[in-house]
Amino acid sequence: MSGRTNPSGRKARGASSSAAGEQVADPGAAPGSGFRPARRVVILGGGLAGSTLARHLLLETDVEVRILDRARRLPTPRQKYGESSVQLAGHYYGKVLDLEEMLFHEHFMKYNLRFYWKTPGLAGDVFEHYGQTYIRNYSNVPSYQLDRNAFEASVLAMNAKDPRFSVVTGISELDVQLGSGGAVHRVSYRAGGEVHEEECDWFIDATGRGQWLARRDGLRQDNGVRHGASFLWVDGLLDIERLTRLDRTERRRHPHRRITGHLPHWLATNHFMGPGFWFWVIPLRHKTSLGLVYEHGAVDAAAVDSPEKLLEWVSREFPLFAEDLKQRRVVDHGRLRDYSHGCARTIHPDRWGLVGEAGRFSDPLYSPGSDLISTYNTLLVDAIQAPSERELRLRCQQGEALMRALYEAYIPSYGISYDALGDQEAFTLKYAWELSIYFAFYVFPFINGLLTDRLGALVVMRRFAELGALNASMQRFLSDYLQWKKARGMLCDGAAHAGRPLFQELMEFPALSRAERTFYEVEADAGAARRILGDQVDNLQAMARAVHAWVASRVLGRPEIALSSRYAIEGDGADLAAQLVFDEQAFAARLVPGVGAPDDPPLSDALSFLSRFAVPAREATGDQGEPASSTDAAPEPSPARAVVGATRA
Ligand SMILES: Cc1cc2nc3c(=O)[nH]c(=O)nc-3n(C[C@H](O)[C@H](O)[C@H](O)COP(=O)(O)OP(=O)(O)OC[C@H]3O[C@@H](n4cnc5c(N)ncnc54)[C@H](O)[C@@H]3O)c2cc1C
Repeated sequence: MSGRTNPSGRKARGASSSAAGEQVADPGAAPGSGFRPARRVVILGGGLAGSTLARHLLLETDVEVRILDRARRLPTPRQKYGESSVQLAGHYYGKVLDLEEMLFHEHFMKYNLRFYWKTPGLAGDVFEHYGQTYIRNYSNVPSYQLDRNAFEASVLAMNAKDPRFSVVTGISELDVQLGSGGAVHRVSYRAGGEVHEEECDWFIDATGRGQWLARRDGLRQDNGVRHGASFLWVDGLLDIERLTRLDRTERRRHPHRRITGHLPHWLATNHFMGPGFWFWVIPLRHKTSLGLVYEHGAVDAAAVDSPEKLLEWVSREFPLFAEDLKQRRVVDHGRLRDYSHGCARTIHPDRWGLVGEAGRFSDPLYSPGSDLISTYNTLLVDAIQAPSERELRLRCQQGEALMRALYEAYIPSYGISYDALGDQEAFTLKYAWELSIYFAFYVFPFINGLLTDRLGALVVMRRFAELGALNASMQRFLSDYLQWKKARGMLCDGAAHAGRPLFQELMEFPALSRAERTFYEVEADAGAARRILGDQVDNLQAMARAVHAWVASRVLGRPEIALSSRYAIEGDGADLAAQLVFDEQAFAARLVPGVGAPDDPPLSDALSFLSRFAVPAREATGDQGEPASSTDAAPEPSPARAVVGATRA
């Protein structure tokens, strides 16, 4: 499935990779085989998914592309959620769609995802009262904060320069008869007072929440995730670092900057966290996007179903926003009661597909929506270029399996452990785990084009499957740990940290740091991917052992456990997954003589740096106090190390 580049710079797909990697002729491409290569694609819906798919097709194929949209004009005038992108989509927009210049001119380069929690004992009415979990440095794979309408307007304008592209807006009375077995599709609709009928080789549904095809053909599936959202946009930049009573000099030289540094926090996608909910703050040029996402039951939907109620709720829950929001003009708003859904099928060899929210969408935490669009677009473009019936079937079959696997892997994260959002320590463990998987198993394969390489895709899926049971165990484990903490009033470590916000740099997790190094593994073929992803499976298994040991050390109040390889759960694969269970008795039973003894070898990837979450109670230090943390600021001696040191002395 890997393509070669023809003199025009477009990919030619009449060839496929052999196991050895060289190009071989595809027998299915022989003239007279009856196979009709794709010439014309109709995309229903010209939003983020539709407009970018069109650009991708125009850049890499010779097909004609027509977008049909029911809106009178594109982009539609109302604001749209879906602004924050992460590395995979950042790479897709910037490099694959070649939009870097426009992105840097018209949008903000994003400063990672950042998470904030209220600190017990502090009022939470100023920025410096909040603990933070974050990555301090910019990612080497840039991502962006997109003002959706401006972005789509630019992409559509670029598309319009190509004579193979056309858009029809304001359509109604749509009827689509999907052909099967290679027959063309017949599309009819009314536009400009007339009925139009046309044929196409491929029909792609990109109607977003309209889900035209999924509704018509009964493809919608329930995925068990019951989450809602309420969101709005306000005028101007809401700079969260200014939500303080400190003057400018005090802000510039605040002790927290020893840890967090000087990059503007407002460029991040900022998440203010609570049990089962989070509130986003995303900067766009000249306005700010604000939105609450919640698990049903965690927030009363009726209490946030209008802009006024949402602003009131936020000002109460996160008081630092109260004064600022009173001054702001609301530009637009919206809400969704239940937005998560699956889809029975999204790429079919009868030459139809669904992309964007029209197909599958799990949850906006971690901003994966654009990633799914980028991946689907890539797989669809590949399938549309299939040179033979056999290749078409293979590409659709593999594309469908891949997309289902990548989507389903997210579901436990959203369905099982959303409650972990309410505790900085539990969430930090959860996010470090998920981000390590994301860097290695989503970003690395995408950058290397492995998803459209038949062998490469198989390697990715096989390695990814090795993590399935472990991921499910990890989600349950962290959710149970959260419940254990909650029952003891330890969320955000209760009194232990009274008055001291906690700061956690995610790159301190050795596994995450190793996963991030895969960004630099470029031109990896299937063989290299097998080795690299195999190492990453080991990497994540080491992390699972370290998380287990860390949590057991907290539950039993024995810091030495976190560093003990004698205590650690063993084995790998399903065996390891079966041992990753939150069970107080099982934790105690592992505490055999010799754990933490001088001859107990140190556990690799031990999470003893998390001891900042377990320091003993101390007096509050007030607003200007030293934060409980540090990456490079002089660290406090870790209690875990201190105990082990004492034992070994
Ligand atoms: C609360 C929430 C927050 C999110 N935040 C993010 C985020 O930060 N980052 C991210 O990457 N993703 C996010 N997502 C996912 C995000 O929604 C998608 O990435 C993106 O909006 C999907 O774009 P789309 O093209 O599928 O839909 P849209 O952009 O909505 O486009 C659909 C188009 O189809 C047209 N249409 C609809 N019905 C019909 C019809 N019957 N006939 C013809 N045309 C039709 C519409 O007019 C529109 O132009 C979020 C999702 C939710 C629910």
